[in-house]
Amino acid sequence: MAEYVKRYNPNRSSEWNYGGPKWRLSRSKLDFFLECPRCFYLDNKLGTKRPGFPAFNLNIAVDELFKKEFDVHREAGTAHPIMRKYDIEAIPFSHKDIDKWRDNFVGIDYKDKETGLVISGAVDDIWVKPNGELIIIDYKATSKDGSIIELSDSPWDQQYKRQLGVYKWLLEKNGFKVSNTGYLVYANADKAVDAFDDRLIFETTLVSVELEEEWIEPVLEEIKACLESDEIPEIGNNCEFCPYREAAGKKLLHMHQALKARPKKDPNSDTKETIEQLKKKYA
Ligand code: SF4
Repeated sequence: MAEYVKRYNPNRSSEWNYGGPKWRLSRSKLDFFLECPRCFYLDNKLGTKRPGFPAFNLNIAVDELFKKEFDVHREAGTAHPIMRKYDIEAIPFSHKDIDKWRDNFVGIDYKDKETGLVISGAVDDIWVKPNGELIIIDYKATSKDGSIIELSDSPWDQQYKRQLGVYKWLLEKNGFKVSNTGYLVYANADKAVDAFDDRLIFETTLVSVELEEEWIEPVLEEIKACLESDEIPEIGNNCEFCPYREAAGKKLLHMHQALKARPKKDPNSDTKETIEQLKKKYA
């Protein structure tokens, strides 16, 4: 069996931290600040990032296939069938920088004049109307019951709304005119079929998103103040990692103290006793 390769580096090089030459405020970091200022601070100021999740390879595959599909129409200057289905008069936008804007390691960026922060984000796609106005697009893949026809008020959907709002703001700051309505191209896999048979069957829908950007600049000011401060910010409300860290830390400390204080006789029996005490204490 191939050996597990550890990728997590709990002490990142300081050049990637706030103040370092490689640091930028990506769209996802901006959202991370809204989720939990404390973890944002630990990550961006102190260089310890919360471990991530494995990549969602099926979602990535759908994104790549959508990209290929829309690129055919970008090249030809034609509308994709889904645009016609939803009566959207537009074609995929051709621009010399489109591949940079779609690259997670590059993206579109802008240096905010008030805070001096460089904000960046990588779009999935941009469409353009006949009058030159741009439309922000993001591809999504999931598997939910029924057709996905509108954005819900779930935290995920609200995060998507902020995501598209940041892309709009970035493009406008770079001099483009951008529509107030963006779209999610949603691929929804059907779980109700009888068997897998080596394929997933998707329904693709277009979900409109009203984009808001008024919240961005006030949040940039809060982020700047957080990063300039020497005080550790409060934790976010909905994360399960901190309760885990606290409980694990207390138990380890308890064991450490009990084992340190043990008389030098049978160390194994002392460990067992300590574990039994811990089980009772936290039962
Ligand atoms: S609650 Fe704790 S672990 Fe979760 S994001 Fe905040 S600081 Fe990080």
